[in-house]
Amino acid sequence: MKIGLFGGTFDPIHWGHLRSAEEVSETYGLDRVHFIPASIPPHKRGKTATPARDRLRMVRLAVARNPRFNVSTEELSRAGVSYSIDTIRAFARGKRPKDSLYFIIGLDAFREIATWKDFREIFPLCNFIVTSRPGSKDNDPLKGTGVAVKKLFCYDSKHKNYRHQSGTRIYFIELTDIAISASEIRALVKQGKSIRYLVPSEVAKYIKRRGLYRGRRGER
Ligand code: ATP
Repeated sequence: MKIGLFGGTFDPIHWGHLRSAEEVSETYGLDRVHFIPASIPPHKRGKTATPARDRLRMVRLAVARNPRFNVSTEELSRAGVSYSIDTIRAFARGKRPKDSLYFIIGLDAFREIATWKDFREIFPLCNFIVTSRPGSKDNDPLKGTGVAVKKLFCYDSKHKNYRHQSGTRIYFIELTDIAISASEIRALVKQGKSIRYLVPSEVAKYIKRRGLYRGRRGER
């Protein structure tokens, strides 16, 4: 099995996330993609995210009809800050020997990888599928990551990806540009504007029913 791990705040999940997971899983033949809502993302510490329960429910609603997509509470069920190394270790422990892990991440977030906890220990455990960001023409996943990361990889010109000493790879995929962001959705709701066609209708209904992002609890 090829297993994709797609972490995020998902505050809320939107069509940009879902289409990204779809294109990645089709291109790399992933059998399963686990959406992993983060409890307290290290880079968003100090800001109040929407309660985990609501973000989790929205992700569940959004992926319910895709048998390849799954929701993992791996980070939500752990106390404290969510570090990717802990999540990846948990999936690496739980996988069968022939399974391989693919961590799906936007190019902007991957650039920061040298600041992640124990980042060197992540690379032998999983492959990375780095995704393009809307409006950006950058296509080199290692550009801007720094020498500490670059020196661990060789470019494989035949397969056009990067190979780690351990054999894992970093792939880059150019996605269909869907310039939707969760922060834009939160801002629209706050202004009383429509979010129809930006998020699945079940998610829009949930946001409305729970009164999320109106500037009270859940505001950021
Ligand atoms: P925010 O606007 O609050 O920063 P976001 O929409 O970027 O949120 P996150 O939950 O932080 O959502 O993102 C999770 C992952 O999804 C990240 O790897 C990010 O790069 C990717 N992602 C977010 N929006 C899109 C999009 N429109 N198209 C493709 N990938 C996206």
